[in-house]
Amino acid sequence: MGRKIILEHYDVPNLKDYNVYRSVGGYRAVEKALKSMTPDEVVQEVKRSGLRGRGGAGFPTGMKWSFIAKPEGKPRYLLCNADESEPGTFKDRYMMQYNPHFLIDGMICSAYALGCNTAYIYVRGEYKFIIKILEKAILEAKANGWLGKNILGSGYDLEIYVHTGAGAYICGEETALIESIEGKRGNPRIKPPFPAVSGLYGCPTVVNNVESLAVVAWIIQNGGDEYAKIGVGNSKGTKLISASGNIRKPGVYEIELGLSVEEFMYSDEYCGGMQHEGRDLKAVVAGGSSVPILPKELILKTASGENRLMTYESLSEGGFQTGTMLGSGGFIVYDEAACIVRNTWNFSRFYHHESCGQCSPCREGTGWLEKVLHRVEHGTGRWADIDLLVEITKKIEGNTICPFGDAASWPVASAVRHFRHEFEYHVRFPEKIKNREHFASEPMRLFINEFVK
Ligand code: SF4
Repeated sequence: MGRKIILEHYDVPNLKDYNVYRSVGGYRAVEKALKSMTPDEVVQEVKRSGLRGRGGAGFPTGMKWSFIAKPEGKPRYLLCNADESEPGTFKDRYMMQYNPHFLIDGMICSAYALGCNTAYIYVRGEYKFIIKILEKAILEAKANGWLGKNILGSGYDLEIYVHTGAGAYICGEETALIESIEGKRGNPRIKPPFPAVSGLYGCPTVVNNVESLAVVAWIIQNGGDEYAKIGVGNSKGTKLISASGNIRKPGVYEIELGLSVEEFMYSDEYCGGMQHEGRDLKAVVAGGSSVPILPKELILKTASGENRLMTYESLSEGGFQTGTMLGSGGFIVYDEAACIVRNTWNFSRFYHHESCGQCSPCREGTGWLEKVLHRVEHGTGRWADIDLLVEITKKIEGNTICPFGDAASWPVASAVRHFRHEFEYHVRFPEKIKNREHFASEPMRLFINEFVK
């Protein structure tokens, strides 16, 4: 059994209730931080732990904190990014649903370290039941003296508020999230200035993911060195992975970073292997819909023949030619009956719909990708469309205000790179495509084999 930090007490009934959380040692981290550590010591502990942001970018959390400006007379803000909307990613929802106090525990320690007296949890609007859970937990924490004025007699004040989004994926981008809290349309800002210098209301602001903030409580209680003992290389600690698709046991799992992809895929402790007997693995999207898709040969082993590991480094080995990213930990599995073109079209519909429209390469490009993929998928594609898709992604990537443009391009570019034959099959056999034969009971593998012959 892999070590559990975030899911350590998940079998305890009613863990989301304050008294139950306290009975498993909850809020001891806050006690330790406020009574025996300076804010800078908390930052140093997090740095020592090697914790990296769990939202997708993987930037070292302690280092991010050390960038926060400290101008005289201006407040600082801590924002928890709970706008989890990446297709295939549902780990934060799970954690907030079962253990909301763990997040509040970690947020108090983090806000203390950063010198923030106000913090917000920005939750996606669709998570209505989570909002209620969080609000109840905040009230309980306040009633028991963990929030409010002069916490534990330390002289430190903190209020945490829940702010609800209206369902826009782009509000998960940190500057769009800030705009949204300010009451504006959630459009990403041009950087610099970075939020650490000028964020919410023009004040220094740190935005961290739910999982990153929660785990700070464990790090303070147990020590950064203890956390750094888990994992390999620069991938320290554990990570929540939301696994879905054609596997026997979809769900949220906590893994020690460094576990092999093969073990995660096939062992009964995690995904439990393929869902349908007789159907082999075709591809995996390892880190949410924004990262490149990899075929079976490249997700289980790197191009140099090493076992692929669930780490930031191993998953990205080979760059985008043969690698991918750990991203948000949304692990989507496709068996050989899945249609990669249909899946790519589906993702492109999502990105077209969610583009905020500020920059033309993204606004126009995502629409164009969807249009071309729609015709290829529906049997009216042209041979030139396949290269056209790649050309469009090159025009978007790196040419936009925020990373959304890259996120919309990578799934398409990688699908064509690794599964070009499926796109060619769609163009070559439009009648079979129009008749949806590739979704009939016979696995698509048979069609592909026929084509490859
Ligand atoms: Fe908006 Fe897309 Fe530009 Fe990001 S890349 S600012 S989502 S138009």
